[in-house]
Amino acid sequence: MLTFNRVLMLHCDQLQRRKARGNMEGALVARDCVGIQDFVLLDAFTSETAFLDNLKKRFNKNLIYTYIGTLLVSVNPYQELGIYTKKQMEIYMGVNFFELPPHIYALADNAYHTMLTEMNNHFILISGESGAGKTEASKRILQFYAVSCPSTSLLDRVRDRMLVSNPVLEAFGNAKTLKNDNSSRFGKYMDIQFNREGEAVGGHILSYLLEKSRVVHQNHEERNFHIFYQLVEGGEQETLHLLGLERNCQHYSYLVQCGTVNSIDDKNEWKITQKALFVLGFSEREIEYLFGIIGSILHLGNVQIEIDSKGYAHLSNKAELRWLTGRCIILQLLGIHVQVLHEALTFRKIEAKTEEVRRNGAVSLLSYLFSACLFFSCGLQVLSPFSVDHAIYARDALAKALYDRAFTWLVNKINESLENKDSTKKTVIGLLDIYGFEVFFVNSFEQFCINYCNEKLQQLFIQLTLKSEQEEYEAEGIEWEPVQFFNNKIICDLVEQRHSGIISLLDEECMRPGEATDLTFLERLEERVGNHPHFLTHKLADQKTRKTMDRGDFRLLHYAGEVTYCVIMQQSKNGIVKHCFPPTEVDSKKRPETVSTQFKSSLMGLTEILMAKEPWYVRCLKSNEAKQPGRFDDVLVRHQVKYLGLMEHLRVRRAGFAYRRRYEVFLQRYKPLCPATWPHWKGVPADGVERILKHLGYQEDEYKMGRTKIFIRHPRTLFAIEDAYEICK
Ligand code: ADP
Ligand code: MG
Repeated sequence: MLTFNRVLMLHCDQLQRRKARGNMEGALVARDCVGIQDFVLLDAFTSETAFLDNLKKRFNKNLIYTYIGTLLVSVNPYQELGIYTKKQMEIYMGVNFFELPPHIYALADNAYHTMLTEMNNHFILISGESGAGKTEASKRILQFYAVSCPSTSLLDRVRDRMLVSNPVLEAFGNAKTLKNDNSSRFGKYMDIQFNREGEAVGGHILSYLLEKSRVVHQNHEERNFHIFYQLVEGGEQETLHLLGLERNCQHYSYLVQCGTVNSIDDKNEWKITQKALFVLGFSEREIEYLFGIIGSILHLGNVQIEIDSKGYAHLSNKAELRWLTGRCIILQLLGIHVQVLHEALTFRKIEAKTEEVRRNGAVSLLSYLFSACLFFSCGLQVLSPFSVDHAIYARDALAKALYDRAFTWLVNKINESLENKDSTKKTVIGLLDIYGFEVFFVNSFEQFCINYCNEKLQQLFIQLTLKSEQEEYEAEGIEWEPVQFFNNKIICDLVEQRHSGIISLLDEECMRPGEATDLTFLERLEERVGNHPHFLTHKLADQKTRKTMDRGDFRLLHYAGEVTYCVIMQQSKNGIVKHCFPPTEVDSKKRPETVSTQFKSSLMGLTEILMAKEPWYVRCLKSNEAKQPGRFDDVLVRHQVKYLGLMEHLRVRRAGFAYRRRYEVFLQRYKPLCPATWPHWKGVPADGVERILKHLGYQEDEYKMGRTKIFIRHPRTLFAIEDAYEICK
């Protein structure tokens, strides 16, 4: 039987063999002798400064990944480092987590193998602020699975579809912002489903709150969604002709905000999007409709609204209008005629033509769009009389609603394409790539939702790691020095608590059409949450702080920092969800939900999905604001390290135990390593486990026996056992 020393020898042996597997690997290990690759392993890393030094030292040697136990910290290098090759993937397949330098592939591989061994569900939460590298990380993980998982030719199709879902969603859901040239303007959660053999057999995507206001308005030097430019720059002449478009972005008022961007090749991206739509199985008709919408939105944006002699709105750009109603297949199918559109945009309420939609073929895309028009017409009812501002508002509302609906339809179509219909048991790995914490000069409703979402995810992180870790030690009766951490539940409550949270108050105000204004909403906030320590308004602020706020602002002290929001009521009210769903979907007796309430429920749903799975974390850090390769801005990184709670996480990890398993599970797996437990152990499982550990020669301080579980302090200890097991298997 194996002794502990023998186990260690075998362990080294195995490492040697693995190193010999590829030349690259040796080089990689040698290259990674810089800094410390796992903060947990080194005693000196209790201070923030030491933590940062280590990150920086590694970053300067192009080592962007570092572990805190099994949590992966990634610092955006803003350059290609050649670390995502197929060769690299092979190096990381099926290797113990800590044997090789930290890598996103190691984390992906470890999650995958744990899933297969334990037959349970996992998720990888990728977080960090805008531009930190979340989307890149999620793509790398997906690519890794595409190469590393076993497959059959039938499944290759599923795999290809999963891979190409990315470029499509990015084309329609990403845009250039000041922070990131390819910023995701929606949240995304993707389940990858695996069968017992570990083959990827299907997938499902949930999308969260698309920033649809971008369709009609972008800040200076920001762009609309990529797809608009792709179509105008890359669309075939014939397509453009069909859609009545010119090959000139500057011609379209929804696109004029930003000129050429060096990092983006719209022409080429157009080809990629087209190919991806084809692989996903979109029909020609569907593609035609889809771009019909994109085209109509551009036309709609160019409909000019002027003031007539009576001071009312008047549509001037007749050519655009004629095109929209005369040749635009989408509006034709929806039964909207020139006069109707004209009246709708300037004055009267349009009657939604349900029957006509049906008659023209009940394509599901159309029913979505139809509901967008419903929204449009409902919006108009409260809009009279029709000033120029109102007419512009109506036009933009239609454009936004059309785009939003088209996006939802797109996600549903992709899901159909990824769906696995067979009912055998599957396990999943969920990938969560959701918008990071955002602070702009002017922060509006969208930022409010995005930052609230980040609060929720931070809360989940706290519950799943910091809090649950400490509670587990307590429950297991393990001696433990509690670690202090800031619990952001108080901020989540401020936003979401029923009846008294900001969202509930917002809802109440939205239910008083005509009476409620931004200012009455602000007053209500002051009255109801005014003394909350994380809330402030101009009126409540002290003299000095008051200077930094406007009268119409409120400020939240988020876990990640202060954000001042210009009041958000108008924006929330406009999007009353009732109008965005076909009438059958709406129970007229129920109170209509506002966008914020709907968002709150979808986040609650997400939290539930995640809580039922085992977590893995990738924390992405932004190295500098200028998006420059190789630059490490200490202040910026320090700030992120702080608010992401990395030091707290490290402290909990260091004080704690790297590994824990229920006695039964541990015994079952490792009983062949000890004569006393092999083949059957008759006593209680805990005693059996102790016999194994004693037999392998472990010291008392390397592990602790809890009530139901064994806790092992160091990952290295576990490797030795695991390797011994592999060998004697
Ligand atoms: P986020 O999704 O967090 O907003 P992205 O993943 O879109 O950020 O990353 C922003 C940009 O940073 C990418 O377009 C890419 O240029 C660069 N980048 C991010 N991660 C990496 C990486 N691991 N290696 C090289 N460049 C990266
Ligand atoms: Mg992103």
